[in-house]
Amino acid sequence: MKIPLALAPPAVFGRRGDRTIPLAIWHGYCFLFFSKAILAGRNHMEEILGKRISDRHPCFSEKAHRKYGKLHLPVAPGCNLQCNYCIRKFDCVNETRPGVTSVVLNPFEAMERVRAVMERNDSISVIGIAGPGDPLANDATFETLRAIHREFPEIILCLSTNGFLLPERLGEVLDSGVESLTVTINALAAETAEKIYSSVFHPGERLSGRAAAEALLHNQWEGLSKAIESGLVVKVNSILIPGINEGDIPLIALRAGRMGAGIMNVMPLIPQARFKDIPRPSCAMLEKMRAVCRAYIPQMTHCKQCRADAFGLLGEDRDMELELLHFRIGEDYCENV
Ligand code: SF4
Ligand code: SF4
Repeated sequence: MKIPLALAPPAVFGRRGDRTIPLAIWHGYCFLFFSKAILAGRNHMEEILGKRISDRHPCFSEKAHRKYGKLHLPVAPGCNLQCNYCIRKFDCVNETRPGVTSVVLNPFEAMERVRAVMERNDSISVIGIAGPGDPLANDATFETLRAIHREFPEIILCLSTNGFLLPERLGEVLDSGVESLTVTINALAAETAEKIYSSVFHPGERLSGRAAAEALLHNQWEGLSKAIESGLVVKVNSILIPGINEGDIPLIALRAGRMGAGIMNVMPLIPQARFKDIPRPSCAMLEKMRAVCRAYIPQMTHCKQCRADAFGLLGEDRDMELELLHFRIGEDYCENV
């Protein structure tokens, strides 16, 4: 890291003799410089994300993620897309990745889980629906969100989507009380999208090839723009797929940043399904891409690529604990009847 010129110690510190006082002044000066820079960064994020999200959303805000956790409710098994990097067939307790869940819940079971967690854990600030399919392709998503919003209005509701149904269902998203939204966009050009997605499903039709790519991109960008206009705080996720979309990601950053998206999360590909032979991007590659994109939109760097049923602070992987919690609730119940 380059030290700013203003922080270079004055020549007097290099001399022999009593350097205690000048060094103390220099340290004080550095402290003030960095505090001011950190404060400026925080204020900037608050301006972009709004204070509530900036203070309390562990994914959108770096400062919130050590203090606050989230609960993902796996109520959305259906998906309207086939991404070439997605596989949702397996559940392995050792595996943490999007699309994986131990169990799919219905809205009623989801609410039981919410109540159990809220009763015992005061650090959960966000409840989100992120799969294991696409939340907008499942009516259970909206039923669950509305029920949570009625019972726990203080909780931030969050949704992740591939964006295909966003223009069509944005009204329902807003009516459900959602405040923060993530849209995964992996391509700007239809040519690139065609390599990433094999098909798109809409009731009554299945598109593939270039037609699928164009329909998806059209809806993603239209949905993103409308979601931002309607006041949602929006994050754009992009999966970095070596050899496929390195050229598109900076352009996605530029376009999304200009539209007013709050933050971008460039994530490394998890090689699987049709993309199982593409190597996972190195940390250096990821960092380089984030550095390029940072010129256009703030970058998230603390993503843990969570499961669709994740729970707790980011990276804690506490779903199994949640299962045990359910078990204990069952025991209490048996003791009390
Ligand atoms: Fe999998 Fe999500 Fe793609 Fe659907 S949109 S295929 S759940 S990665
Ligand atoms: Fe947050 Fe990343 Fe986990 Fe999504 S996958 S909940 S953005 S840490």
